[in-house]
Amino acid sequence: MQVLKFGGTSVANAENIEKVMAIVKDKLSKEILIVIVSALGGTTDALLECGKLAASGDEIYKEKLQEIEQRHIAAVKELIPVQHQSALLSLVKKMCNEIEDLCNGIFLVNELSNRTIDKLLSYGESLSSQIITAALVAKGIECKWVDARAIIKTNSNFGNASVDFQTTNANVRELLKQANVNLLIVPGFVASDSKNITTTLGRGGSDYTAAIFAAAADASALEIWTDVSGMMTADPRWVANAKIISSISYQEAMELSHFGAKVIYPPTIQPALNKDIPIWIKNTFAKDEYGTVIKSNAENDGNIIRGISSINNIALLSLEGSGMVGVPGFSKRLFESLSNASINVILITQGSSEHSICVGVEVGNAERAKQVIDHAFSGEIAMERVEPLIVEKDLSIVALVGDHMKSHPGISGKMFGALGKNGVNVRAIAQGSSERNISAVINTADVRKAINVLHEEFFETSYKQINIFIAGAGNVGSKLLRQLHQQQLFLRDHLRLQVRVVGIANSKKSVIRNEGIDLSNWEESLAQAEDSNIEKFVSEIIERNLRNSVFVDVTASEKVAAVYEGLLQKAVSVVACNKIACSSSYAHYKRLKELSHEFNASFLFETNVGAGLPVIGTLTDLLRSGDNVQNIEAVLSGTLNFVFNNYDGKRLFADVVRQAQDEGYTEPDPRLDLSGKDVMRKIMILAREAGEKMEMDDIVNNSFMPESCMGGSVENFYAEMKKHEQHFKDLYESAVRNNSKLKFVASYHNAPGGNGGLKASVGLQHIAPEQDLYHLYGKDNVVLFYTDRYKEQPLVVKGAGAGADVTASGVFADIMRAARV
Ligand code: ADP
Ligand code: ASP
Ligand code: MG
Repeated sequence: MQVLKFGGTSVANAENIEKVMAIVKDKLSKEILIVIVSALGGTTDALLECGKLAASGDEIYKEKLQEIEQRHIAAVKELIPVQHQSALLSLVKKMCNEIEDLCNGIFLVNELSNRTIDKLLSYGESLSSQIITAALVAKGIECKWVDARAIIKTNSNFGNASVDFQTTNANVRELLKQANVNLLIVPGFVASDSKNITTTLGRGGSDYTAAIFAAAADASALEIWTDVSGMMTADPRWVANAKIISSISYQEAMELSHFGAKVIYPPTIQPALNKDIPIWIKNTFAKDEYGTVIKSNAENDGNIIRGISSINNIALLSLEGSGMVGVPGFSKRLFESLSNASINVILITQGSSEHSICVGVEVGNAERAKQVIDHAFSGEIAMERVEPLIVEKDLSIVALVGDHMKSHPGISGKMFGALGKNGVNVRAIAQGSSERNISAVINTADVRKAINVLHEEFFETSYKQINIFIAGAGNVGSKLLRQLHQQQLFLRDHLRLQVRVVGIANSKKSVIRNEGIDLSNWEESLAQAEDSNIEKFVSEIIERNLRNSVFVDVTASEKVAAVYEGLLQKAVSVVACNKIACSSSYAHYKRLKELSHEFNASFLFETNVGAGLPVIGTLTDLLRSGDNVQNIEAVLSGTLNFVFNNYDGKRLFADVVRQAQDEGYTEPDPRLDLSGKDVMRKIMILAREAGEKMEMDDIVNNSFMPESCMGGSVENFYAEMKKHEQHFKDLYESAVRNNSKLKFVASYHNAPGGNGGLKASVGLQHIAPEQDLYHLYGKDNVVLFYTDRYKEQPLVVKGAGAGADVTASGVFADIMRAARV
């Protein structure tokens, strides 16, 4: 004997009911088949809504009832040949009239009790089961409708009645004994109490009806036919990569459903487990797919974690106070008062200090819980030995489930590590002593992200998704986007990183696509996007709350640099080629570093110094491994190097500078380079990274530029340089006379000598051929690190230190570093 249950979507309309009938037909044999059906999908909600509208005095319920009636009549008309319709149509109409009478009554008395709700909702399953029975008969399939209310007996806890198994089991056996056909059609969800008043088994309760029948009848299998192809590793509506679990133990399935996996109603599993009846979850719309089997000794697919689920609308109740320590009976009184008020406790944690007990309940019960608990402890509260109950709302529970967790250490470390890295704050943690489940209470706003993060951590060993938001689509930005586009496949195949650019913004517009922007035509997407600004862009990033988010700043804008703080606080990593933040006040630089640490988000800016050259990375590695910086000597301006390498007194100095700007080596404002200010920022960043608390004022700038060049506009700057050509010529010729080259050198001395005690300086120097800084060509940079370990011969980092392509590749490398934390 087998029991089949078809859920709401499976019987939502005539077309779906045809599929159900085909499945039932295939199953017919000499054995009895019991088929349990839900109401037509959405009917229960619609009936409940009508009841509530009527109770609130809103006559619109009449229109809604019309819709319900029409839907059922349409199903009848489609399923049954005209000549056989009339009996069923009058039955459907009669039932719909009864529903209307009931709602009119509710409207008149303005009251809707749980008992009346049960009566009202029971019509959903009554209608669907009658229609399906008639449709099968019309197909020539012999079957009989069974009134579940006469079989399943419960107490009078309307809305969520408890089953009287003794009577119910006897009734089922009697029914089977009397059965003169092989196919019984039963409405799910409904039952009745000892006075034959209609009760229900709780929302989603048709699954339970099926399990009750299966256990009482010692069925060989229970099949739950629904709209997904099995129980999945996570709710498929939230996790795109959720996978079907082909076999799972009763206990694991119970935990998963208890913690929100809606695919099966939690009480369903116990009756099947008691009788060791396998439960199959199958898909009505893909009937040949294997599905999931829930059974004892389920085969494990090698995954320690079998699934992740979540429940929303949780409130956390905390009872705290010094008067609780070491005093027995506190928890008993707490739980007793909750139980007396029929409040179900979903999760419990207690700190080992016994200073507080924390319980999770449904948010709808929170206020009542506060009343009863504050009342129960009123004596202690008055004496200030216990605080009034603290209630926190807008919370959810996420749970990891797996039978084999107990023999594997490190699961919770991995779980909380992954959540922490993504800025998901954990409010409370519980682990059952069975170690089959670890649950965490988190903010509801973080649930989707948390589930996806955990799913990726435990099930998607193959790919890690990185969500990138880029501010700046100019020179460096467009090169970066091109490189990301070129590398996407490689990263997926070789590093298992699924790199998606989710947002791109320039100073006027921004485009955001949750599924990732197509990088082959991002220019078009951005051009068509709406007007935006950086604040809007950032709030959209925060609102999306995507896992592994990286914000990339490839602008030179102060406004953009100002948003890092807010992003890091939301655990969004920041990769900046913009130097403004790191060269602002020391306090701000330090704060960003601390936030990065506190929120576990990377803050990386390798391209602030030497473009794509590994300068900051090298310095960090030296310090991490215990070395100590003594001096840094560096040529850090690709622009100035280009200018002095190309200026020979024959072409105008201004023209050489113009060429550097045209070729994209300068800052957007070339005066930043020529004044030496950009080099000051760079040496300061290096000094800060080496542990120095340095400000711009602590650096001596021996500028070589005539002052008149630096005021006014960029055009004025070029004009003034032309006027001072002789000055530049003199600089050049004196170097030639010295058999030297001109280099704009930055230096940092850990133990200051001259310079009035200042540790850093920048300025033009004559560099002779035997010096390390001499052999620098084009726009190269060089950094010499003199450290405890590299005393005589410095550690040298040298290469192209400017240019959009190399800068973009440095930014790219930082993104990869941020992603792999
Ligand atoms: P029915 O009406 O057939 O009883 P339900 O809507 O009650 O169907 O349950 C099926 C739905 O449960 C699926 O459509 C899916 O969206 C949701 N669901 C939530 N968690 C899971 C999970 N872990 N595995 C499969 N489905 C899940
Ligand atoms: N129709 C009921 C509900 O929607 C029972 C069920 O479908 O399982 O809750
Ligand atoms: Mg269901």
